Amino acid sequence: MSFTLSVSTASQRCELCQVVIEDRPGLVDVVTFSNGPQGSRSKLWSRVCQYVTDPERRGLCINQDSDGRGAEQPGDAFPDAPAIDLGNT
Ligand SMILES: [Zn+2]
Repeated sequence: MSFTLSVSTASQRCELCQVVIEDRPGLVDVVTFSNGPQGSRSKLWSRVCQYVTDPERRGLCINQDSDGRGAEQPGDAFPDAPAIDLGNT
C-alpha cells in the first residue's frame, strides 16, 4: 500500500510576499501566509501585495492580477483578532 500526496491542486509560491497560493479550480484560492491563519488572494493583496510599489519587485509578485484575486472583502485589511485568554479555564 502506498500513500502518495495528491497533486490535484496546484500551488504557487510568491517569492516576494513569502506566501503559498493554492489554486483550487471552482473555489476560492487559499493563501498560506508565513505565519497566522490562511486567507484569500484579496486578503493577501490588501495586506501585502498592494504595498509593493517598485515595478521590478512587482514583476516577482504573482498576486498583482486584479481578475485573479477578486474584489477586496470586508475585513481583509484588518489583522485577525488574536486569541484572547480570559483566564477562566
Ligand atoms: Zn505577492
